[in-house]
Amino acid sequence: MITINGSYGEGGGQILRSALALSLVTGKPFRIEKIRAGRKKPGLMRQHLTAVNAAAEVGAARVSGNAIGSQAFAFAPQTIRCGRFHWSIGTAGSCTLVLQTILPALIIAGGPSQIVLEGGTHNPFAPPFDFLARVFLPLLARMGPRIVAELERPGFFPAGGGRMRITIDPAASLNRLELKNRGPVRRQSARAIIANLNPGIARRELKVVAKALGLASADLQTICIDNAPGPGNVLFIDIESETLTEVFTGFGQRGVSAETVAARAAGQARDYLAAAVPVGRYLADQLLVPMAIAGGGAFVTLPPSRHTLTNIDIIRHFMALSCEPRETGDGAWEIDLCTEGVNR
Ligand code: AMP
Repeated sequence: MITINGSYGEGGGQILRSALALSLVTGKPFRIEKIRAGRKKPGLMRQHLTAVNAAAEVGAARVSGNAIGSQAFAFAPQTIRCGRFHWSIGTAGSCTLVLQTILPALIIAGGPSQIVLEGGTHNPFAPPFDFLARVFLPLLARMGPRIVAELERPGFFPAGGGRMRITIDPAASLNRLELKNRGPVRRQSARAIIANLNPGIARRELKVVAKALGLASADLQTICIDNAPGPGNVLFIDIESETLTEVFTGFGQRGVSAETVAARAAGQARDYLAAAVPVGRYLADQLLVPMAIAGGGAFVTLPPSRHTLTNIDIIRHFMALSCEPRETGDGAWEIDLCTEGVNR
């Protein structure tokens, strides 16, 4: 039995999400202990529990220990089911993180799936819906499956209440993906989203980003949303290059000025542009599991985060993996993965 120490490395929810995803695709059972042991509220929170239960449904799995606050659970999948799924987190917990858990299995399942997820769609410390739709899913599509994501209603932290629909047309196996060169940058743009707040916040954010990145007014957009259950403000900076689109996000926060939110997001975009790498730090950790299923892949990125290093280690628990991140100069790192891969 594979046993995982949930407090190892980055020590957060990603360890259990990646372990569930890899268990589903390899069919290997595992046990995880000390879940989020170092966190303020250790164990499974509602979003993690929804991920465990969603994976159990997809894998027709035997599970024990799946309860709020639980610091250990065991998971034994039997198959990969496809079809219609509906999961509601019940809090503002992140829908995209629940999706991260079951998407790797459903993109190589025996038939199409349609998923409805309810909860948070734009949460700090998680991929916002826009990152999923404009960055991550288009790259997965290059690996074979066709995936359409629709945002039916945004849900901002802390009110939640968002809803997204994901339609998946799987592939029998995934193609290898290589993202080594960014190529020329074709367009930079920014959009500020406002729900139930003063639109002046968006204008102040866009002004800061325009100045920091030299954007023209045609590249700036304010979007006012009227169907969100609570207040929310998110700022996106899109960098479209020949190879891919990257999205950098600033989350509006009570007590943090619009100017500060915008300056932080612009800082991330500038670091990315200065390093001349295609893959940003968040995308890096998210590409690893799909690439491991594909039998390998390679990308050039910023210095690997703890999430990235921990994810590499979790993959090693489930399959033979050769992967040694190496610095290639000027703050760029190359990550090359080689595994035996997984077929349907
Ligand atoms: P964890 O901290 O273990 O819950 O994992 C957080 C996940 O969210 C990781 O896969 C991160 O790459 C991803 N993430 C966090 N912030 C962002 C962001 N601003 N944009 C895209 N992905 C993000």
